[in-house]
Amino acid sequence: MDHQSYIPGMSPAEAGPLSRFIPPLEEGVISAWLPLHASTSSWLLDPFGFSPRLILEAARSGYRVLVTVNNPVTRFLLEMSANPPSESDFKAALAELETAKKGDERLGAHLQSLYLTTCEKCGRETQAQYFLWRKGEDVPYARIYECKECGDTGERVATQQDIDRAKKIAATDGLHRSRSFERVVALNDEDRIYVEEAIAYYLPRPLYFLNTIINRLDGLSLTPERRRALSALILVACDAGNTLWGHPSERQRPKQLIIPNQFREHNLWTQLERGLSLWLETASGVICEAWPQKIPESGGICIYEGRLKDLAREVKKEIPIAAVVGSLPRPNQAFWTLSALWAGWLWGREAVEPYKTALRRRRYDWAWNATALNSTFTHLFELLPLGTPFFGLLPEPEPSFLTSALTAANAAGFDLKSLALRTEHDPVQIVWARGEHLKRESNEQNIDDIREAIHSHLIERGEPASYLHVHTAGLVALTEAHALKNKEQEFDEAMRATQALIQNALANDERFVHYSSGESVDTGLWGSAELIRHYESLSDRVEVAIVTFLQKNPNSIYLELEEDLYPRFPGLLTPSKAMIYAVLGSYAEKDGAAWKLRAEDVSTARRNELNTITAMIETIGRRLGYATRKQDKNYLWEENNSKGGATPLLHYAFYILASALVGRAITETPYPPEQIIIVIPGGRAALASYKAQRDPALATRMKPYRMAKYRLLRTLLEVPVLTRETFVEQIASDPLEKSKAQMMMF
Ligand SMILES: [Zn+2]
Repeated sequence: MDHQSYIPGMSPAEAGPLSRFIPPLEEGVISAWLPLHASTSSWLLDPFGFSPRLILEAARSGYRVLVTVNNPVTRFLLEMSANPPSESDFKAALAELETAKKGDERLGAHLQSLYLTTCEKCGRETQAQYFLWRKGEDVPYARIYECKECGDTGERVATQQDIDRAKKIAATDGLHRSRSFERVVALNDEDRIYVEEAIAYYLPRPLYFLNTIINRLDGLSLTPERRRALSALILVACDAGNTLWGHPSERQRPKQLIIPNQFREHNLWTQLERGLSLWLETASGVICEAWPQKIPESGGICIYEGRLKDLAREVKKEIPIAAVVGSLPRPNQAFWTLSALWAGWLWGREAVEPYKTALRRRRYDWAWNATALNSTFTHLFELLPLGTPFFGLLPEPEPSFLTSALTAANAAGFDLKSLALRTEHDPVQIVWARGEHLKRESNEQNIDDIREAIHSHLIERGEPASYLHVHTAGLVALTEAHALKNKEQEFDEAMRATQALIQNALANDERFVHYSSGESVDTGLWGSAELIRHYESLSDRVEVAIVTFLQKNPNSIYLELEEDLYPRFPGLLTPSKAMIYAVLGSYAEKDGAAWKLRAEDVSTARRNELNTITAMIETIGRRLGYATRKQDKNYLWEENNSKGGATPLLHYAFYILASALVGRAITETPYPPEQIIIVIPGGRAALASYKAQRDPALATRMKPYRMAKYRLLRTLLEVPVLTRETFVEQIASDPLEKSKAQMMMF
């Protein structure tokens, strides 16, 4: 396997509509990968159609992207992102809705009145931003508002008026609920029960709100573009209107339909307005056609609404696919069920029909995922020429997801070419190539192969790794040995066997050390007992590489640093952003977007300072009655043996660091730990303690050693009366932990 390095990208400034269900990918990744593997204007295929941004970026880079989508909501997201209505159409559509009549009043005023609440401070009426609910209760317990009159803002206990309003809306709920499901399926439909269950994730007020505007949608005289714009805004409100919004937690990515114990009910009118800015920020302008319409060679998107299986026959004859790209889907019962519901609300029963299975299925496990992915890979095998590359992004990685994807691809004749993993919070980047045989010989799983693979990864890393990393190392070894799945096995059996084998390999081998507070194999960190002898830990090497890069390339932006760094640490060694920022925070400063070493960390300045520190050690030593002698990399404080022996007596050994390579210092200092003092610049203390926090093996090694910062030596030099006792006290009074900064841990 090659070790293609991780391709860095940038997090998008705005997450975009329905972002909690859309894969969190970085921008700039696919456009960096593509030119190396396919010539511009060639055809790409995305068999999942799950990430509009990825597809748009590929199209904008000059490729023709054929996308299969069977989820009507995903399809709408893609079309909207490619070719959104203009800002004026969005605004006109919303104004049209607002000014429509509801009895004697305007619809906008009526809908906003649903969220009126009384300001606790000034007593005037204001709009609630949210009402807060506890699961199972029929009235809200609190509201959150920002009073326009007096500025009072925050969470306040719900008033009787809030409670009465909620009850009043609930009184007519039955009618709105039945209308809501009739838009999705017919009354006598056998799937009616599933739709009713899905609608149960809507409280009466949002359901009334959505029902009212959706019913009104048909009566408004809107141009097709404005109708599309209004549908897009309503879609944002549909997602904001369900009960899957836990409170107070902010960033949530629901996978299942589970109501949180406390949740917030959004003011849907403000959500419509928010939708407007969400959609406008994704504005793009990329040609987007439905299959089999042609798209120009300069690039664009061609959507095939349906299954890959049906497309395969047509494509094979007509279109040469140069590469497959896509974000691999993971089971998401919440999004899939709600998509079917929203499709019915927005576009009627016919739109739901092809996607109805999403309503029926409740449980999606990883074996189901592997089976579905395998079916996709099998169809791809049939339509792709030998050797066609497949660049897959696996967002929110976890061990089972990786097992599922690698097993599915391997069982459909795809060869794993490279795999780059950063952290469990970043998409894994995988490259496969279409192999020679769809069905190939499968080999027995060998536990020793896994052990060797994991062990060599840990040695290469030089520090403990997360379970996800060691699991992946084991999986890759099994993939290369063609031992992920036997022909006779079902996917659930194959995956269980693989997972168990990797866990067994770790649990029953004394070379592996588990750093974890829990019993479970997949928690905490895994290290090797042999690591103690290898001082070049990944974080030390990353530190050296970053400093070297900044010496040579001052004023570089972060992305340039990543581009230099990742090829040096490919595959499973990809350093995390947290690690890079910890090093930058210790050595560098930022001027606008550009990073450069701090003045005191430029190498000439550091060398001068090292000389000063050496001189200070000598001076302080002299005052305490010690002679200083340099021995290899250590400065020794010695005293003539009082008994007149020839060998002087060693009291302390100093090791002076300009870096935070504490592990190396320990290895290079052959004296008893209680006599050693490691001296580091104050600016390195936070980095050294960050390293000790993420590496329990290093923390244990560091424990018996004393550390002193440069500035402590300067202070000691000024102390008028310094004794050997006060020296020891002073050293102990300035531990590393005091400078522990707030840092991202991984
Ligand atoms: Zn007020």
